[in-house]
Amino acid sequence: MSDKPEKFIDENGIRLDGRRADEIRPMTVEMGVLSRADGSCYLEWGNNKVLAAVYGPRELHPRRLQRPGEALVRYRYNMAAFSVEDRIRPGPSRRSTEISKVSGEAFEPVVMTQYYPSAVIDVFAEVLQADAGTRTAAINAATLALVDAGIPMKGLVAACAVGKVDGQLVLDLNKPEDNYGDADLPIAMTEDGDITLLQMDGNLTVDEINRGIEMVKKGCEQIFEIQKAALMSKFGTIEEEEVLED
Ligand code: ADP
Repeated sequence: MSDKPEKFIDENGIRLDGRRADEIRPMTVEMGVLSRADGSCYLEWGNNKVLAAVYGPRELHPRRLQRPGEALVRYRYNMAAFSVEDRIRPGPSRRSTEISKVSGEAFEPVVMTQYYPSAVIDVFAEVLQADAGTRTAAINAATLALVDAGIPMKGLVAACAVGKVDGQLVLDLNKPEDNYGDADLPIAMTEDGDITLLQMDGNLTVDEINRGIEMVKKGCEQIFEIQKAALMSKFGTIEEEEVLED
C-alpha cells in the first residue's frame, strides 16, 4: 500500500487525482451485459469496476422466508478475490455482510415489493476492481440492474461518499483519501433527496455532516443524469415507438 501523502489538496484546490473538492470521478455504465440474469449493469467509476445482476421476481424457497404481502429484496455485495492488491479471502466477511444489509435497505423505499407477494428479488453486486467507494458504486449499478430486470420502482437510487482531508470536505473519496483521510461518509438517496443509506467512519462535526450531505446531493444529481442517459439509450426508443403506435 502507498504511504500517506503529505498533502491531499494543493494550493490551487486540486486533489491528487486532479479533481476539485466537489467533483466526482468519471463514471460509465452499460446495462444488459449478462444474458442469463433478468437485469444487469456494468459500471466503472474511476478505477472501480462493478457488475450488478438481478434475478427475479421468483418464488422464494424455503417458503418460511416468504412475505405474504410483498417480495423480499436480497442484496449480496461481494468483492472478488482479485479486486484489491492483496487477495481477499473468498466468502462472506463481517464487512461484506454489513454492506449487503445496509445496501439492500437503501432500495426499500423505491422497490414496489407489494406487486410480488411471496417472491424474492435477488441483487448480486460483484466488485471486480476496488479503489474506494465500492459500496456506493455497487448501489449505482444495482439501481440500473433492477430497472433492467423490469422491477417496478418509484424512482432511482444513487450513492456517493463525502469525506474530509486536509481539514476540507471532498466528494467521492479516492483510495488515498479513503485510507488516510479523517472521515468517510457514504450516502445513498432517492431522486427526491430522501437519504436511504448513511454510514460514517471517522469524525465530522454536525455542520460538516450537513455540508457533506449537500455535496453528496449535487454528486447524486450528476449520477442520476448518468443513470437516466443509460436508461434513455436502452429504453428511450421503445417508449417512443409505443407512443407513436397509440
Ligand atoms: P468502500 O469500498 O465502500 O469505500 P471501505 O471504505 O471499507 O469501502 O474500503 C475502501 C477501500 O479499501 C475499498 O474500495 C478497497 O479498495 C479497499 N479494501 C476494502 N476492504 C479490503 C480488504 N479486505 N482488503 C484489501 N483492500 C480492501
